[in-house]
Amino acid sequence: MVSDWSFVSVDMELTNSCLCDCLICPREAIVRPTGFMTEETFDTLSDKLVREGSLITFSGMGDPLFHPMVFDWIKSVRLNGGAIGIVVNPTSLHGHNSRKLVDARPNSITLSFPSLQKKIFEQLCPNISFPVALSRSMELIGLARGDVGLRIQGVLTDRNRGETEHFVSYWKGLGVPSSMVACHGRGGNLRKPGIYTPESLEIFSGRCGLFSLHTFVTWEGEVLSCCHDLTGSTRIGTLITEDVSLIAERKQGLNKKDSLPFSVCRQCDEPLRRCVLPQGSPPVGKKERNRFFREVSRSGRVFKNV
Ligand code: SF4
Ligand code: SF4
Repeated sequence: MVSDWSFVSVDMELTNSCLCDCLICPREAIVRPTGFMTEETFDTLSDKLVREGSLITFSGMGDPLFHPMVFDWIKSVRLNGGAIGIVVNPTSLHGHNSRKLVDARPNSITLSFPSLQKKIFEQLCPNISFPVALSRSMELIGLARGDVGLRIQGVLTDRNRGETEHFVSYWKGLGVPSSMVACHGRGGNLRKPGIYTPESLEIFSGRCGLFSLHTFVTWEGEVLSCCHDLTGSTRIGTLITEDVSLIAERKQGLNKKDSLPFSVCRQCDEPLRRCVLPQGSPPVGKKERNRFFREVSRSGRVFKNV
């Protein structure tokens, strides 16, 4: 049973390396250490999180499919009775990766597909052509059908406002649920011009729903405020040596304040920070957790990062 709301959903960063060069990603500004999660770290983290009953999602500021152990580790979490999701992008679905991913049987796959407009897509994802990305996505859809839950996530930037209706109906026609999320500044780290208009910081001051309902752990096992922390300065603790309950307690302590004490939060226009913490205790089992996520998804409050 999950002891605290902040551990219902945990993003696990297998690596903060990536071969893509997405325009909406500030990854090049990372100054905390870069690397790949070791087997020892994964075993420690997954033991604790599976025991806790957290939904683990391989994502973060890097490409989980770039990690050589990704498929084995998905299988391992499932074998140990845990729930696992993964966020992928078409650039990494080369070779037999879609087949390997589906064969590993994650509980869910979120495919990032920023836009259905060829020109916009290729501006946002310069390392892959639109036709190749679409064909790889179709392959994944075909392989996942009936076996693995798949959803597609697009991004609304200043260049493709108004795309949502077409986007959702296109994927719906293929039997795949989808949504588009507003591009935001990733804690003030996204500085490329002409992609999005920063929201008023006043609107977003105060507490953070994402922080309350979610935990982010780096490839080194460090718990940070969220994946927008590119410096490591928001460190809350480490899941290598500390218990989930201790980290949860620290997060609860921070949540009692009127606002989070981290400078990255003061420049953050992440829409998910407006999520409201539900009343009562966190879900007691898998069924309740799944119901919670269905409700969250219906209300538009999704947890996955692009
Ligand atoms: S958005 Fe994801 S896939 Fe794109 S460059 Fe950043 S980490 Fe890589
Ligand atoms: S306010 Fe923004 S930067 Fe701070 S924890 Fe929430 S999402 Fe992360």
